[in-house]
Amino acid sequence: MMRLVFLGPPGAGKGTQAKILSEKLGIPHISTGDMLREAIASGSELGKRVEAIVSSGQLVSDELMAEIIKSRLSQSDCLGGFILDGYPRTIKQAETLKEVLQELGNELDLVILLDVDEDTLVERITNRRICPKCHAVYNLKNNPPKVNNICDRCGTELVQREDDTEKVVRDRYRVYLEKTRPLIEYYEKEGILRRIPGDKSQNDVTKMLFDLLEGAKKT
Ligand SMILES: [Zn+2]
Repeated sequence: MMRLVFLGPPGAGKGTQAKILSEKLGIPHISTGDMLREAIASGSELGKRVEAIVSSGQLVSDELMAEIIKSRLSQSDCLGGFILDGYPRTIKQAETLKEVLQELGNELDLVILLDVDEDTLVERITNRRICPKCHAVYNLKNNPPKVNNICDRCGTELVQREDDTEKVVRDRYRVYLEKTRPLIEYYEKEGILRRIPGDKSQNDVTKMLFDLLEGAKKT
């Protein structure tokens, strides 16, 4: 049984690692965006309320989000656990999540922080190149294409995403720190925060995650 929350700065590889863990452990990877889309697609009364708010461009309130989370975490595929990615973002949301889980007779097992420092992220992201045709992702330093600036898979010329600039990365990191630092402290106090150095290779990070979860199961 593994009920997990993933935290980390944008570009740390949270989504990628959460997906790998989710497949390996057979538990759902739940992102906020997916939850909203699923709620709307379900056509339920809750989904209709969500749709009305999202389509009018408003933000989903904490109260409504709590209902969505509760409805999602009550589904049978969450019985063996889940990985939350992108929620909670604030202490208020963390407290709400705790209440929702208590109502369901559960609690979080671990909060995993994929820790990557700002300069590493800048280097990683400014070296990122993508194939506009098949969406393959390269890194000029760690994972370069065989032929300079040409996609290995389909031969298309690689491009850099408009947002993959140093300024954007540093701005996002600052916002992340401001918002997430209190949350990190909150979960540290709860005694369930674990840090994984996210600046290692993708495979190394995956291995550290598995080792961590194996250790957590035994205690
Ligand atoms: Zn390609």
